[in-house]
Amino acid sequence: MPRIRDDLRSLVPYDPDMRDVEVMLSANENSYGVPPEVRSEIDRRLAEVALNRYPQATAPALREALGRMWGVEAANVVVSNGGDELLFNLELAYGGPGRVLVNCPPTFSAYALYAELTGTGLLSVARRPDFSVDEGALLEAVRDPAVSLVVVTSPNNPTGNLVDPAFVERLASSTDALVLVDEAYAEFAPAEASCVEAVGRHDNVCVLRTLSKAYALAGCRVGYLIAPKGVAQALLSVRLPYSVSSLDQAAALTAVERREAFEPVTRALVANRAALAEGLGRLAADVCEKRGDGSCAVFPSAANFLLMRVPDAADIHELLAERHSILVRDFSATPGLSGCLRVTVGTPEENDRLIAALRELLGV
Ligand code: PMP
Repeated sequence: MPRIRDDLRSLVPYDPDMRDVEVMLSANENSYGVPPEVRSEIDRRLAEVALNRYPQATAPALREALGRMWGVEAANVVVSNGGDELLFNLELAYGGPGRVLVNCPPTFSAYALYAELTGTGLLSVARRPDFSVDEGALLEAVRDPAVSLVVVTSPNNPTGNLVDPAFVERLASSTDALVLVDEAYAEFAPAEASCVEAVGRHDNVCVLRTLSKAYALAGCRVGYLIAPKGVAQALLSVRLPYSVSSLDQAAALTAVERREAFEPVTRALVANRAALAEGLGRLAADVCEKRGDGSCAVFPSAANFLLMRVPDAADIHELLAERHSILVRDFSATPGLSGCLRVTVGTPEENDRLIAALRELLGV
């Protein structure tokens, strides 16, 4: 019988709960979708794509457009099949056996998964009780010469915290390891929170972005990295040549060229986040008062989702789906996140429906 590598035998397929529900708030997608006028243009351009030809391997037009958008050269940009592929390729190129990746859990689970797949050692620097990065502990951790890659996530998934860009620069100055700032949700945070400008000042800082969230193209699978040219070149060398299809490149290029059309959508989601945080905050206060404890709370977030703690979180998660057709993400079994659910910010209607359902299930 064929035998999978011993070190990979315990892995199970990544299969997030994507039940068919009326209100989908579990994957941090963009409920509004692509603005209709941009969608029509994407459809027009897709119709012109020659499906019998291979895609442009390095996506030059898209890299040029992204370079113009950020004021960098195309040689500083790498495009990938979602941010996920970049994370994998970064660990493949800058991790590997005998090398160590540092991450700050609770955080995006893909970092640890790809460490396993690429044989990279994993060092976890736990976040503080308010889920902020423990800066002192992280600076201490990168002194280990085996550390070759450090991931800081800003805003962090699933906790919503930002990392101070000044700290990222201090971190980069104190190590030769590659510092990856995962900014998958940065469009929902203040522009000055981004670390993109640090890329030009350090030869070991890169920033990941995606079109899956603010640009509502999760189904297309397009992410990109802004990086020093040497890092970009290394990533271009290890990637699978045709990982971003011609259709995805055409859709992404249209979205980037028409990016102003997405700004009202992003602004709406930021406003909806404030309203949802307020509604859930009132609910949490009512639950705590009724129970006479601190069992319910909502954490501040700079992303398009909110983390909250609720009593009987796993049951509430199931009941939301079964009785109310609302799917959120259950993190209650994740270390450091007991009792926690992550809810994506949706439209005002979706958010109101979530608050009403939670109020009913929690009896407040
Ligand atoms: N980074 C973080 C922190 C994320 O949450 C995600 C999406 N879940 C990604 C990267 C990758 O997203 P995508 O592959 O859709 O670009």
